[in-house]
Amino acid sequence: IKRIGVLTSGGDAPGMNAAIRAVVRAGFFYNLEMYGIYRGYEGMIQDDIKKLESKNIAHILERGGTFLKSARSAEFRTEEGRKKAFANLLKHGIDGLVVIGGDGSLTGAHLFFKEFGIPSIGIPGTIDNDLSGTDLTIGFDTACNTAIQAIDKIRDTATSHDRLFFVEVMGRDAGFIAINAGIGSAAAATLIPEKKMPIERLVERLKARTKAMKTSNIVIVAEGGKSGGATEIASKIKKLLPYYDIKVTILGHLQRGGAPSSLDRVLASKLGVSAVEGLINGKYDVMAGIINNKIVFTPIAKAIIGSKEVDEDDFRIAKILST
Ligand code: ATP
Repeated sequence: IKRIGVLTSGGDAPGMNAAIRAVVRAGFFYNLEMYGIYRGYEGMIQDDIKKLESKNIAHILERGGTFLKSARSAEFRTEEGRKKAFANLLKHGIDGLVVIGGDGSLTGAHLFFKEFGIPSIGIPGTIDNDLSGTDLTIGFDTACNTAIQAIDKIRDTATSHDRLFFVEVMGRDAGFIAINAGIGSAAAATLIPEKKMPIERLVERLKARTKAMKTSNIVIVAEGGKSGGATEIASKIKKLLPYYDIKVTILGHLQRGGAPSSLDRVLASKLGVSAVEGLINGKYDVMAGIINNKIVFTPIAKAIIGSKEVDEDDFRIAKILST
């Protein structure tokens, strides 16, 4: 391998810049030429590809977002689009690819490898933490920190006004951010997609907490929940508990931004270097991850279909602490 192209794709996540930096620095360390593919697969199709120098990656480790920019590309889902993308890689002589993104981006990388055989490796970059083959994905820790800090502020108002807040957090179909935010911010209940909580049970929990003279009630709702989002659940509860002063806050995209936490910087740096070393050592169509503090390469096909779910222990602990 002589020339590696690196791209970020799908939803941006804090720590993606740290991962790009580590990939590029590792490439330079091993005397490779490094190319930035801007705007994910869309940029690969439109030939938005530039050679990277050391100065391009200076002072990006600590910044949120991704300087290579990210995109969702409908054209890359078509065979025609992927052919164009591959032709552009050939044009630049790129013979290795690092894809930083979530399950969709890695699905694309897997397909691309099957069709064209270009040596490629994935790095899990998504705040959702919904990939197997790694204990944590890049951006997840920062997103949890951001959610918890926001909920702390909401609690001030909840306590001062005796209000019941429903706070919706991100995570797509996975409840990882929700369960962590729930445990880390002493939520009255946490509703996650992996477990359906009957509305009657939530009502009972809230009534019991009122009896126990709890001064504030915050319910965390994961966006992809089976019983609906925070707005839907709040309106159902409003009908059943009309005397509660209920408010809804949707944290939304603020969870995707900001400077990466120490954990995300270190995780991204380790995975970035490991991905380049993996490529050099012939590990293709795999995702670099960390399990039990060790670098592990998992076939992408396995990492994306693993349907990682919130641990039963975490769910039980959240329940014990909110009852
Ligand atoms: P996040 O988890 O943050 O949403 P993601 O990587 O899962 O990130 P997606 O929008 O699902 O985000 O995927 C990003 C891009 O990857 C898509 O816009 C598309 O270009 C490509 N992609 C996703 N799935 C496929 C697929 N089945 N075939 C080809 N390309 C795909």
